[in-house]
Amino acid sequence: MPTINPDRVLAELNYLRTIGAYKTGVHRPTLSKEDIFVRQWLVDRMREAGLDARIDGIGNILGKTDVIGRIMLAGSHIETQNHAGWLDGALGVIYALETARAVREDSSLHGIGVDVAVFCDEEGHFGSFLGSRSFIGEVDEAEIDRAKQVSLGTPLREALAAAGYAGRARFVMDPSRNVGFFEAHIEQGAVLERSGNRIGIVSAIVGMWQYEITVEGEQNHAGTTPMELRRDAGLALVRLLNVIDVRFRALADPRTVWTTGKIFFDPGARSIIPGRAHALFQIRDTEVAILERLENALHELVKEANATGPCALSVVRASASQPAQMDERFIKVLATVAQQEAPGRFIHMPSGAAHDAQFIARKLPTAMMFVPSIRGISHHWSEDTSDEDIVLGAKVFANAIVLALKTSRVDP
Ligand SMILES: [Zn+2]
Repeated sequence: MPTINPDRVLAELNYLRTIGAYKTGVHRPTLSKEDIFVRQWLVDRMREAGLDARIDGIGNILGKTDVIGRIMLAGSHIETQNHAGWLDGALGVIYALETARAVREDSSLHGIGVDVAVFCDEEGHFGSFLGSRSFIGEVDEAEIDRAKQVSLGTPLREALAAAGYAGRARFVMDPSRNVGFFEAHIEQGAVLERSGNRIGIVSAIVGMWQYEITVEGEQNHAGTTPMELRRDAGLALVRLLNVIDVRFRALADPRTVWTTGKIFFDPGARSIIPGRAHALFQIRDTEVAILERLENALHELVKEANATGPCALSVVRASASQPAQMDERFIKVLATVAQQEAPGRFIHMPSGAAHDAQFIARKLPTAMMFVPSIRGISHHWSEDTSDEDIVLGAKVFANAIVLALKTSRVDP
């Protein structure tokens, strides 16, 4: 098995933390000055590690090994959410880089190698998983033309030109080159910490189905309109959300989650009965059958509410990402290695958050592994993981990739 260098892993993660430092976290949005600097820094590290590393026309970095044999693709993303944590993305990138180095430095590991991928804009500053979707050939030029920085409005084309990436060809995955894809990530939840576990082996990444619920009522005076004459869109919406919650509890799996993220009342004033109300609602689960069951229930409940009146309700599906099942063989490999490195302190779990691995899984057998997040905090500058857990995770990740490559039956 390869020997990772724990000091190197911690030193590089701590160095990355200084580029765009914000309190104890990092503010490094996609294609910001700091993000561009870090991309080049990673290319330099990959080249030092003997990889043929370049940045493509959408900001993806790919470092290819010169090994002829069985090659794993590994990686994650390097930009952060605004004013967020130091490990979200960076951890998986440094684990992949360290694994590539450790494999190369071990002369007993002939004929196996690791390609390192850093997917641009996983955090959605310009779009939805642009880097990993581009890598699997699902982003056309028109989508890049349309993409703008969500908070600043800067066109992606302009940002790519400023970074010096414009006009470069985009990398497209060659599934015949890689045995599979491995991504490590912080859990971003508290399941591992609360259960005293140190490694999470992802079984599947949830699909997220999003809806817009609209209620049409009648705007009127809040003092002079008797209760029985009202068509209060706000009240109708809140009642619907309540019955959704009750019905879903009866139909869902223990790990299904649903959320009303935003409610608007129109006109939204203290003394006016809302004439219109609108909600953003989403459901996440790893099983399409459950997502479909809940979606059907959602439509039935809207129908029932319309039958009762007095308002007109409607629901529209805004988007639906498909759940991604992780590769069964890789899951077993991760469990074997986790049992060696952290006996009895690992679990199998779904990923409630979306990741690049979800898209790569459409083309390659894919695995994901989590390390604990202290107090379950992520997408916040206080996000953290203990050094011991970071080092353990790096070992499990590297060993699992090597075991998966050594036991791969068929050369890709
Ligand atoms: Zn992430």
